[in-house]
Amino acid sequence: GFKMGIVGLPNVGKSTLFNALTKTAAAQAANFPFCTIEPNVGEVAVPDARLDKLAEIAQSKQVIPTRMTFVDIAGLVKGASKGEGLGNQFLANIREVDAIAHVLRCFEDGDVTHVEGRVNPVEDADVIETELMLADLESIEKRRAGLVRKLKGNDKEAVQQDRLLAAAQAMIEDGKPARRVEVDAEDAKAWKNLQLLTTKPILYVCNVDEGSAASGNDHSAAVAKMAEDQGAAHVVISAQIEEEISQLDEDEAVMFLEEMGLTEAGLDRLIRAGYDLLQLETYFTAGPKEARAWTIRRGTAAPQAAGVIHGDFEKGFIRAETIAYDDYVELGGEQPAKEAGKMRAEGKGYIVKDGDVLHFLFNT
Ligand code: GDP
Repeated sequence: GFKMGIVGLPNVGKSTLFNALTKTAAAQAANFPFCTIEPNVGEVAVPDARLDKLAEIAQSKQVIPTRMTFVDIAGLVKGASKGEGLGNQFLANIREVDAIAHVLRCFEDGDVTHVEGRVNPVEDADVIETELMLADLESIEKRRAGLVRKLKGNDKEAVQQDRLLAAAQAMIEDGKPARRVEVDAEDAKAWKNLQLLTTKPILYVCNVDEGSAASGNDHSAAVAKMAEDQGAAHVVISAQIEEEISQLDEDEAVMFLEEMGLTEAGLDRLIRAGYDLLQLETYFTAGPKEARAWTIRRGTAAPQAAGVIHGDFEKGFIRAETIAYDDYVELGGEQPAKEAGKMRAEGKGYIVKDGDVLHFLFNT
């Protein structure tokens, strides 16, 4: 599955947000009950109204949403790259995630201490980014030193790695995160394998006071501008409101949201923003037993999409019977769609589209 790491300075609302994410009614109502893998790791259901619609049409007994993992990564402070706070352990946790949700304090509250003694989310973002860049720099230098011998032997892989590490190093020494490096398609995989912290895509999460949840405030506006300049994503959310909502049942939550002038829970927006950031898409399987959503990366071919369900589906892949979501819903299910000629048999080269309802045929 895909993993988002929640980072941020102390006291910005990370735990509040994490708790809300993992306690929410949607997470509990889901058929895989929310599961805490470790105290700071949780899986959440990705909200998708299309899945419920499919389940209704297929009269599925079970409805199983697709999941995304969130990791609450505590302990980042100024000096983390030098081993302050939880230091290295923290950095190791970040290496493993696919993307970073960076929580920024955009609320004023004299009762909640700010580690830097002032509320300034743009500078906070910079403090964290600087730590990550320093950590990258250190690991780049170590790794390049470790490559020297292989480079003398003209090892092809080592040459590529060193070239990419050098590009990242130059960018960081220029004061910018490594994600600014433009990487050719043929280097993409090796680049990702470097697992540099500042190559991870970032979603800025503006944690605003309750009153600003609908409209945002000056702090979140400043973050929005920064995010735009960086080509990063951002969402405005009130962690406190989300925590309150997470304790309500669905009907109460809808009423509460209306009162606050919100059309949708912030967490849903957050999860979806993470989904978009990672360029993820959903396909469905639907039948009387269950309706289920599956996550793939945009651009995934049918056999690899099948592999998400089971490795054997990929190995023995024959074809995918495919119905577009809109056709499935408009025509009223698999059989009518088939009769209307809207079920396509797609082969190995087919790139799965978001919303496809699939049935895989495979050799065992
Ligand atoms: P963490 O250290 O980043 O995990 O921060 P916490 O989630 O533990 O929050 C730190 C403190 O800030 C707690 O006392 C929270 O109740 C409070 N807090 C979190 N979000 C908000 C908010 O939106 N408004 C206000 N006023 N307080 C908040």
